[in-house]
Amino acid sequence: MTSPVPVVLVFLDPAFPGGRLADASQPQLMVTDQGATRGDGVFETMLAVGGNVRKIQAHLDRLAGSADALDLAIPGQDEWRRAIATALSEHRVQNPAPAGAGAELVVKLVVTRGAEGAAAPNCWVQVSPVGAGARRQRETGIDVILLDRGYDSDAAERAPWLLLGAKTLSYAVNMAALRHAHKQGADDVIFISSDGRVLEGPTSTVLLAHVEKADDGTSVKRLITPQLDSGILPGTSQGALFTAAKAAGWELGYGPLEPQDLLDADAVWLISSVRLLAPVNHIDGKPVGTPSVQKELTAELNELFAGIQ
Ligand code: PLP
Repeated sequence: MTSPVPVVLVFLDPAFPGGRLADASQPQLMVTDQGATRGDGVFETMLAVGGNVRKIQAHLDRLAGSADALDLAIPGQDEWRRAIATALSEHRVQNPAPAGAGAELVVKLVVTRGAEGAAAPNCWVQVSPVGAGARRQRETGIDVILLDRGYDSDAAERAPWLLLGAKTLSYAVNMAALRHAHKQGADDVIFISSDGRVLEGPTSTVLLAHVEKADDGTSVKRLITPQLDSGILPGTSQGALFTAAKAAGWELGYGPLEPQDLLDADAVWLISSVRLLAPVNHIDGKPVGTPSVQKELTAELNELFAGIQ
C-alpha cells in the first residue's frame, strides 16, 4: 500500500512522550475503527509556514471543543504540541531540500473513537504538502453556488446532537456538496439555511466587505461574517483576521446575512486555514462586487493575515 501524497504520520501514544512515528504507507488502523466505519471522530486542518503552525492555540482549543461535543476524552494540548513538533521535524528530515522560509505544509490532527470496544480514541498528526488547487484559488478567485443545507439557523441550539458547530470526521455531506458544485462548473459552495440565512462553505467561512466613502473623503471599511451561533463552525481564520482587521481600523459585523447581501457586497471571500482568502467572483453565475475594490481589499486583508502567527 502506498500513500498517493507523501505523508508524515505521528500517533499520540502514552508510551512515546514526543509521539510515535509511523509509516503512512502501512496499515495503521483496525477495520473496526469507528472513525472509518461511522465517521465518529474530530479533526483540525492547520497551515504550517516555514515550520511554524499558524494559529495553533485556536486550533487546539477548537479540537478540544469538538471532542467535548462528541464526549471524546482526548490527550492534553502539550501532548498534541509535542507530536506536531515531531511530525514537522521528521518532515524536515525526509525533505532536506531547501524548501524556503515560506514553505507551506498542511498539518492535520485527527481523533477517532477507536476500534469497536477500545477504551481510548486513536489520535494522530499528519503532515503533507499544500495542494496546487488551494494556491491557485487564492490567486484567481472562485465561482460558487448557493446550496440549501436543509437545517434552519436555530437547529444548532435546538438539536446539539447534530454537532453543527463541531469539526467532525463526518464530512461526506460537505464533500458531496463540493462535487455537486463541480458538476455545475463551479468551484465551491455557500450553504444557505432553510430559513434563508447565509451559513458557511463546506470547508470555509464566508466573509464580505463594504467600503463607504465618508463626506470628508475618508473611507469606512466594514468586514462582515454570518452569526457565529447559526450552526456554523467558528473559523479560526475568520477569528484571527477580525482581530487584525479591527486593530487596522476596520469595522466588524456579524450577520444575519441573506443571499442578496452577498450580491450587494463590494467583495466576498471564502476563508480557511490552508486556502486562506479565496475571492468570490460569481455566485450562481452572477458577478460579485467591484473587481478593483475586491483586488485592493484582498491585498490588504492578505497582508493583515500574513502577520498572524
Ligand atoms: N467552516 C467549515 C465547515 C470548515 O470545514 C472550515 C475549515 O475547514 C472552516 C469553516 C474554516 O475554518 P478555519 O478558518 O479554522 O480553517
